[in-house]
Amino acid sequence: MVLEALGSPLQLEELPNPAAGPEQALIRVLACGVCRTDLHIADGELLDPKLPLVLGHQIVGVVESGGGRFDVGERVGVPWLGWACGVCRYCRSDRENLCVDARFTGYHLDGGYAELAVADERFCVPVPEAYEDVRAAPLLCAGLIGYRSLRLAGDAERLGLYGFGASAHIVLQVARHQRRRVFAFTRPGDDSAQELARSLGAEWVGGSDEEPPEELDAAIIFAPVGSLVPQALRVSAKGATIVCAGIHMSDIPSFPYELLWEERVLRSVANLTRRDGEEFMALAPSVPVRTEVEVYPLEEANAALDRLRAGDVRGAAVLSVAS
Ligand SMILES: [Zn+2]
Ligand SMILES: [Zn+2]
Repeated sequence: MVLEALGSPLQLEELPNPAAGPEQALIRVLACGVCRTDLHIADGELLDPKLPLVLGHQIVGVVESGGGRFDVGERVGVPWLGWACGVCRYCRSDRENLCVDARFTGYHLDGGYAELAVADERFCVPVPEAYEDVRAAPLLCAGLIGYRSLRLAGDAERLGLYGFGASAHIVLQVARHQRRRVFAFTRPGDDSAQELARSLGAEWVGGSDEEPPEELDAAIIFAPVGSLVPQALRVSAKGATIVCAGIHMSDIPSFPYELLWEERVLRSVANLTRRDGEEFMALAPSVPVRTEVEVYPLEEANAALDRLRAGDVRGAAVLSVAS
């Protein structure tokens, strides 16, 4: 499925088979997760995507040929960080997620809304055996970047999650495993998301316009809604950290300094490092994280994106690619 022009639906097309270069693997795609970032790219909210472009950065597939890191036939995952330079000041200081020349899968590089994909082996991750293909796919961005956001939220005991979609439903399980108390905020009146949050162990569930029963020690904002920033600060305890986990957000309205005062921290989380990937893929089966998925055939990618845009997906949307 190909994005030919920004703002237009994906087109079903027959493409030539991609060729793998040195250190790249040719991968037969089994499943690919659908992420809100895919919508931001397709809608033209992120600068300079490759066009035409194959979206998709949560690829689970098997190696057809490669440079030797993985065996032929081995199942691998391809995440968002597709390539980093290794020599810039960010790469050299263990922050390859901020690499000045980073290339991202399904943005600068063709991704996994396809039958075949090519990926740099050094940036692929092993996929835990316990997971079916479609259930493993959301681990690769929703899980991974959610995990990085949780880590950067610090050791908060009372954790708020704003926007209860693919990422939050995974982070909630990891947070409960770490014995944190979770307060889940959904779109007002979203009964299905609220019920899912409760079933996964949220102590309190409400609309994003509601006040939690206690102050929060940290909050992660997954929804691309800037007005949630002052809202989360308003219900946070002294010293709390508010993490914005999305790649794009509507403008943050101005707010009085007293909301930030008392050592509250406001920060974003960008992308992932290979170490995040390895750590999280090892952690997920030990929690164990269970992913709730809505599965669509590859040709119905537009329908999956539309449901995500409307906020109707329960858990994560995943494309299943028939072999
Ligand atoms: Zn770099
Ligand atoms: Zn993503």
